[in-house]
Amino acid sequence: MNCPSVARRWLLAVALFSVSCMALAYNPFQDDVSGTPQPSRWPNDSVTYYVNPTTGSNISTTGGGSVQQVIDNAFSMWESTPAPFNNLVLTDLKATDAGTSSLTAPNANDCQNVIGFDDTNTADFPTGTIAFTEVSTVSPAGTTYSCSGQQETSVLPSQLVDADIEFNPQIQFTTSLSPGSNQFVLESVALHEIGHLLGLDHSGLADAVMFPFGDTTAAGNRTSLSLDDLLGIAFLYPSPNFAASTGELSGTVELAGTGAFAAQVLVVDVSTGNVIMDRLTNADGTFNILGVPPGNYNLLVLPLAPNESVGLYTLGDFSGWSCGYGENSEPCCDPTIDRLCSGKLANPTNYTGKFY
Ligand SMILES: [Zn+2]
Repeated sequence: MNCPSVARRWLLAVALFSVSCMALAYNPFQDDVSGTPQPSRWPNDSVTYYVNPTTGSNISTTGGGSVQQVIDNAFSMWESTPAPFNNLVLTDLKATDAGTSSLTAPNANDCQNVIGFDDTNTADFPTGTIAFTEVSTVSPAGTTYSCSGQQETSVLPSQLVDADIEFNPQIQFTTSLSPGSNQFVLESVALHEIGHLLGLDHSGLADAVMFPFGDTTAAGNRTSLSLDDLLGIAFLYPSPNFAASTGELSGTVELAGTGAFAAQVLVVDVSTGNVIMDRLTNADGTFNILGVPPGNYNLLVLPLAPNESVGLYTLGDFSGWSCGYGENSEPCCDPTIDRLCSGKLANPTNYTGKFY
């Protein structure tokens, strides 16, 4: 019996909404499978979710729909929002509302994806946390894992097996799209956390729903998916439209005649000058960017030169790559696992370069 790796992602509130020069675009969760990063996803393009309807007075429904409607609507936006460049839906993702749950804290081992608003464990919400998603994966394919006591076997190289979302009961939310002062638009936060539940990590593009900071101003309340978000979900759960209506950029980055590992390749739209996508190169310097919308692009490459005093970087040196994942060798299948792994996540050194 193997155990899921558990990672937690928080959406943080910031006082100032600042756009840094970072240009990382959509970014799936990944597991290292025999040295190769494999995106984490749900099998069969299909995911089910439960909602714990217990909410406190911190959620206002004045001028908006019910909490359940907001959650259902957010899932449906990930499933069915057409891409702006061809008006086609690029993903085959199917999300199903499976009913209600009474779970009030994340449980990585029940294989039920629960969205809750009543997690009273204040330790789950470090200062500034709006909401978080705890995502569990197993790898490689053929791994057996426990699901509410039942033994299951994974079919994907990196498979999502459980994801739970908790909204901070100490933060003010509104189901309206016109927030009052100090209110977060619930749909905006739900879209972000559901992106994690579906397998997306943070994006560095500030107009993306998957940008890791939110605030209560209009700029911080993103209630529609950006192109980056749409390409990210299509990458994980592609419909035939994805390959048919987008292109691919591939090549090799060399530094002093050899393939440069983890060089950052930026795709710059010639007409606007905007960076629309990026990728890091593989160990041999190759890169392959899928899902590029029709257009004309320049590539800008930023190599990360190795530190000669310590030798070449390895995958493990990059916090954004494995940050927060429990190691397979760690004791697991244990109710304390999520605390254990969140303890790793809470290490500030894991965040350097990732969040700022
Ligand atoms: Zn997040």
